[in-house]
Amino acid sequence: MRVLVISDIHANLAAFEAVLKDAAGKWDKIWFLGDLVGYGPNPNECVALLQEHDHLALSGNHDWAVLGKLNIDTFNDYAKHAVMWAQDVLTTESHAYLESLPPMLTPHEMFTIAHASPRQPIWEYILDRGTADANFEHFFTPYCLVGHTHVPIVFEKVEGERTYMLHPLYNEPWHLTGVHRCIINPGSVGQPRDSDPRASYALLDLERMIWEYCRVDYDVETTQQRMRDEGLSERLVARLSFGW
Ligand code: ZN
Repeated sequence: MRVLVISDIHANLAAFEAVLKDAAGKWDKIWFLGDLVGYGPNPNECVALLQEHDHLALSGNHDWAVLGKLNIDTFNDYAKHAVMWAQDVLTTESHAYLESLPPMLTPHEMFTIAHASPRQPIWEYILDRGTADANFEHFFTPYCLVGHTHVPIVFEKVEGERTYMLHPLYNEPWHLTGVHRCIINPGSVGQPRDSDPRASYALLDLERMIWEYCRVDYDVETTQQRMRDEGLSERLVARLSFGW
């Protein structure tokens, strides 16, 4: 089976559509790592589009926030306003779908998937080697896929040595040999934060155990115009142009 690994769509329909188009014919099933809604202007459309495909999905902290399952006082004002806007527009069907998603799963003998981290599937940001290192004892498969930081990155644990941080090489097959355990982040579809505004995703071939990082341009201005039409914050609109 070939898997399209995507995370953090954040209601950015134009970015999600661009990824599906770019990856067309190269996958059989989607693994979505959470945060379908929050920030962007098309929450219901993104929920519906994901459900059109064979997939499994996780919930993220923004999904929980929109569902009212966590306190949004810790969110910044822009994110908080976007959450309240999404709460207003979310349909009963979208709400029920998001409510059904778990924050962590083990979909394959080689892979655990968690929105944020295996230790704290909703909240923890794995941005550095120390945090990654502490997380390896919280899952039992060779590999764990996470989203949440919106930064495509690999943390590789070399037993008896240390954890290494590897930056992605795009469109280059990476053979997952199983020799070293890894925590792998495919980056974000709808709100990249690695100074590259293109949508980020990965292709995973489970038979050949090949991972491939991909980036694709999408029509950022379409999403930005929809955000302005909905009165979403100009700061959230602007960041999409730059990928921060
Ligand atoms: Zn997110």
